[in-house]
Amino acid sequence: MASLLTFEEAQERVLALARPLPAEDVAIALAAGRVTAADARSLVDLPPFASSAMDGYAVRSADVPGSLRVAGESAAGRPFDGEVGPGEAVAISTGAVVPAGADAVIPVEYVDKTDNGIEVGGGLSPGASVRPRGGDTAAGDVVVPAGARLDAARLAALAAAGVASLACARRPRVAVLVTGSELVQPGEPLQPGQIYEANALMLATALALAGAEVTTEPAVPDDESALREALERGLAADVLVTSGGVSVGEHDLVRAVEAELGVEEIFWRVAIKPGKPVSFARRGDTLVFGLPGNPVSALVGSELFVKPALRALQGITEPLPRFEPGRTAAALRRNAERDEFVRARSRVDADAVVLEPILGQESHMIARAAAADALVHVPRGNGEVAAGAVVFWLRLGAA
Ligand code: AMP
Ligand code: MG
Repeated sequence: MASLLTFEEAQERVLALARPLPAEDVAIALAAGRVTAADARSLVDLPPFASSAMDGYAVRSADVPGSLRVAGESAAGRPFDGEVGPGEAVAISTGAVVPAGADAVIPVEYVDKTDNGIEVGGGLSPGASVRPRGGDTAAGDVVVPAGARLDAARLAALAAAGVASLACARRPRVAVLVTGSELVQPGEPLQPGQIYEANALMLATALALAGAEVTTEPAVPDDESALREALERGLAADVLVTSGGVSVGEHDLVRAVEAELGVEEIFWRVAIKPGKPVSFARRGDTLVFGLPGNPVSALVGSELFVKPALRALQGITEPLPRFEPGRTAAALRRNAERDEFVRARSRVDADAVVLEPILGQESHMIARAAAADALVHVPRGNGEVAAGAVVFWLRLGAA
């Protein structure tokens, strides 16, 4: 058992083979969730002109306090055509161009309207309530660096900077292939010995959220020729993810059939619980993950190994899952040989994240695991992690 890879060593071997895919140009409207392949730079100064931060009046700061004549209006998208002269003000709305001559804006709340103008009681410093041109970013500056996943704020930044399309890594094409003669699709009646198939949808959902373009193969029985045919099809993808058939049972055929198909194994079995029998291999540029069939094992394997590979294929700067500190609400017994990943619910208690391990930690218990939003890492060793102790955990389902 001592010879098993640790999950960190296994992750290293995965990442060593997961090189970024070629980039393609993607319109920003289609780029949500995509990963930038190059630094994206602003096409404009942002704001592109000095603009008002308030609804009010553009003035010369030296003119206030005092009475000012209102010479016109600068509205959003409709600039004032002219200059603000001495003793003059221009009505202005938020986001409108601050007209030439003016150097400050007095908010409407601080102004008394008179018959032909305004009365300003207090003073103003130059630049008050004016957003300077380029104050957010300058033309040519990086708005989103390479290797970043495009979320709502980053997409907004690109749009504001005038970027219509940008280079993103191609999305990894992933084939999901579940194996097992006992598997039946929900909607069908269960015959004796059969169970409903749960992993294909789980993996397809998790991996699509991580940026993959997923194709799900029909479930394959534990039969060599059926398996050979389905695996060969799956090997056309960038990444083939199988579930089931990688343990030591009589009917665990996946690795043997893959070997026949010229798949080169990089590792098999990792010192983790659940999910020990996970395998990783490659054929040409195709990465091949063999996840165990137990749904919780497959879930853990997808978080620890498959998703990091997908992130690396997309050029994400830090592809490994982020383990954050928190405190365990209950004592956790440590496994002498394997790092354990305990399903838990996270909650915030004052200044700490508290992880409440769910009841039912066996690897077939997907219904119990569905209540969890966290995987708590319990490092291998002796004794236990005491209730209240600091643990490191990762959020389930992160992109
Ligand atoms: P295996 O890794 O093929 O030995 O399967 C381990 C356990 O997981 C067995 O109890 C299988 O019935 C179950 N299992 C395998 N594949 C799936 C699946 N796709 N959905 C639900 N359970 C599965
Ligand atoms: Mg099986």
